Amino acid sequence: MIEGLSGYARSGGLKQYARGCIVWGPNSGNSEGLIAERQAWSTGRLKLDCVKMFLDGVPLEGRTAVMLAPYERRSGAHDEQGPGDGRGLKLIPEDILFPAVTAFDRQGIQVKFHAAGDGAVREAVEAIAAARKANGDTGPHHEIGHNTFIDAADVPMGRALHFTWELSPYIWWPTPITSVDIAEAVGAERMKRLWPMREAIEGGANVVIGSDWPVVPSVNPWLAFETLVTRQVPGATGDPINAGQRISREQAMALLTRNGAAEMGRLDRGGTLEPGKLADLIILDRNPMTVRVGEIYQTKVLATYIAGEKVFSAAE
Ligand SMILES: [Zn+2]
Repeated sequence: MIEGLSGYARSGGLKQYARGCIVWGPNSGNSEGLIAERQAWSTGRLKLDCVKMFLDGVPLEGRTAVMLAPYERRSGAHDEQGPGDGRGLKLIPEDILFPAVTAFDRQGIQVKFHAAGDGAVREAVEAIAAARKANGDTGPHHEIGHNTFIDAADVPMGRALHFTWELSPYIWWPTPITSVDIAEAVGAERMKRLWPMREAIEGGANVVIGSDWPVVPSVNPWLAFETLVTRQVPGATGDPINAGQRISREQAMALLTRNGAAEMGRLDRGGTLEPGKLADLIILDRNPMTVRVGEIYQTKVLATYIAGEKVFSAAE
């Protein structure tokens, strides 16, 4: 897999700026070698400078995301609140997690955490805090990913510990996954904190969004853009989900452009269109900043340029 991707990047076939994260865990024995060799595989527009750690699962029927408070009770099931103590399944014990994050931080390797529940997010925050305490504040900007739920007390930590919030996947509108599966597992009160975009942005940290492709049905960022603004089903109809976390179009645009470039350490060259930066741009069939909000999700890309090179044309 990495041979193929790295070769493709070396030959110039890979046009996108891509970053790979090497999965690491207490039982993933052979990832250490790959981490040591990461620079040899980083070539062209491919950069391998990141390690991914899974701290929990997902807050669905299986109730494997780690939550600070127990899941809702359900009748008829032998494990009423799900596995373990009813608060999900922790995947890496803290006595392994904290020293591992501190060691990667010291080597300048970014750590990306899979953390869906607010309990897993808390663990990631504490692991980054331990690394900063041991190594000082100059280490890489780590990234906590998914963040289906973030406890209010942890929101300001993104800025204080200079890490990035990555919220994903693109399903912050009423769907069977959000309005039924997650809502049944965590209950109505906690649903008010489902993907807290507005709070994460107002907390002052860098915030990005991700598709979590190929786990979810669509990778289309215009669905994500519209529903960040509406929290309604695409087309802006029906009741919103967690309307208190709606954000503006300008904020949504920043998540998809400038903030992503900042996260990849290339804001000096990309992320915005200004003199002196590379011509990374798309041409659209409508202006998502001014069309009726319920039409944003239908936006189509007509052409894509990366560093001034036309790499996609809808017409051709
Ligand atoms: Zn993940």
